[in-house]
This record gives sequence, C-alpha cells and structure tokens, in this order.
Amino acid sequence: MKIDEVLCTACEQCIPYCPMGAIFLEGDMVKISQDECVECDICRRAGVCPVDALYQPELKWPRTLRSAFSNPLVSHPDTNVPGRGTEEMKTNEVTGRFRRGYAGIAVELGRPGTGARFYDVEKVATACAKLGVRFEPANPVTFLMEDRRTGKLRPEVLNEKVLSAIVEFDLELQKVPEVLKALKEVAKEIDTVFSLDLVCRAEPDGSLPTVDAAKSAGFEVSLNGKTNVGLGRPLKEDG
Ligand code: SF4
Ligand code: SF4
Repeated sequence: MKIDEVLCTACEQCIPYCPMGAIFLEGDMVKISQDECVECDICRRAGVCPVDALYQPELKWPRTLRSAFSNPLVSHPDTNVPGRGTEEMKTNEVTGRFRRGYAGIAVELGRPGTGARFYDVEKVATACAKLGVRFEPANPVTFLMEDRRTGKLRPEVLNEKVLSAIVEFDLELQKVPEVLKALKEVAKEIDTVFSLDLVCRAEPDGSLPTVDAAKSAGFEVSLNGKTNVGLGRPLKEDG
C-alpha cells in the first residue's frame, strides 16, 4: 500500500487501522513502511481517508504473496485458495482426509497481530518435516516449498511478511507427541507467535486420542467439534 503524498493531509485517521503498525507519522508526513506492510488492504477498505490518498500499486512477485496471504478477498493465484490455508479440517466428513490412526496439525503463524515472515514459517516447516509429516498439497505454504520432504521454501520468498500463514500436514497418531515437542522447541527460535489446530477423529466411545498428547506437551487444549447434520457427502471411505 502507498500514500499519494500530494493528496495526503496527514490527518492520521488511517494509522489505527493498520494491524501491522506500518503507517506512521514522520515530521509532518504520514508514511507506510513498505517492509512492514503486508498488503492486507485494511487501511484502504476501512474507507476512512477523507481525500482517497491510499492506493494499491501493482504488486510483483514475490511481494504478491503478501496480499495473497493477508487479504481475504485475494485468492492465491496458483492454488485458488483465498487467504492462508485450506478448509479441510472443517470438512473432514466430506473429504475423509484425516483417517483413523492419523492426526492433522495446522500451525497458524502470525496471529493475532504480529504477522510472520516466511523465514519463520520455514523454521516451523523444516522442524516438522524432520519427523516425517506429510504437508497438505492444497495449502499455499506447501506450494511455496522447493522440497516437500525438507519443508524448505523457495529462497526468494523468505523475507516476505504476511498477516498470517498456516503450515498444514497430517501424520500418524503415534508421532503427535514428538511433533508437538518439536513445535515447542522451534517456538523459541521464531520472531512471531503461532497457535495450533490439532484434529483427529473421535473414537467410538467419544474420546479424542490427541488430547492427552497435547496436554502432556504443555499445550492448553480448547476442544472444538463439528456436528455433521447430514449435508456432507463423504467422498472417501472411512479408513
Ligand atoms: S495494507 Fe495493511 S499492512 Fe499495509 S499499511 Fe494498509 S493496513 Fe497496514
Ligand atoms: S487518512 Fe488519508 S489523508 Fe489522512 S493520513 Fe491517512 S492517507 Fe493521509
């Protein structure tokens, strides 16, 4: 995002709308840090500028990633996935992606309010890749990997900053404790925050095989369920 310096009256009304704190007053001018701006378009969409001075210049690769990951109205051009991740975890009754004996993990980096650079996303992905997880192919971060076995991202994207990005993978249930432990360790090495989505099928008795692993790894667990009201049509057999 940029500001038309001729039009801008430095009224500062747009400043509180930036979730990254990228808009700032310098002398008698209001500016946008191009390094911190994640191209989320919130400042412009807020419609608070009285003189319409905020404008979106054409973005070039790899800066296009900032808007693809930060502006929910922009679809990722290569995956057609809007925003940061897939919706698979919420539609398992249809996709059958998470089978019995397996778990799914989504690591949501950058929320709330900090943003994330892809070099930190890569640290998380590589830490998990070492333990043999399978990255979700339809996820935009997976698309940016130059090697899905190592979790390494393309070097040119590493310094790009986004509002948030999700590393998504599935793994055998027995690997969950060591992956959670690795995530606790890598959390100390990154300059952002993350939250975890941990998904599995409920056992016939209603218990959830991932809960104890999450608790023993030191994570606070908040249970969320989804009730299938019969609208989903399973595309895969239960396995
Ligand atoms: S596009 Fe988003 S990050 Fe950039 S200045 Fe506007 S609100 Fe801030
Ligand atoms: S709201 Fe518009 S005029 Fe006011 S500081 Fe922001 S860009 Fe400038």
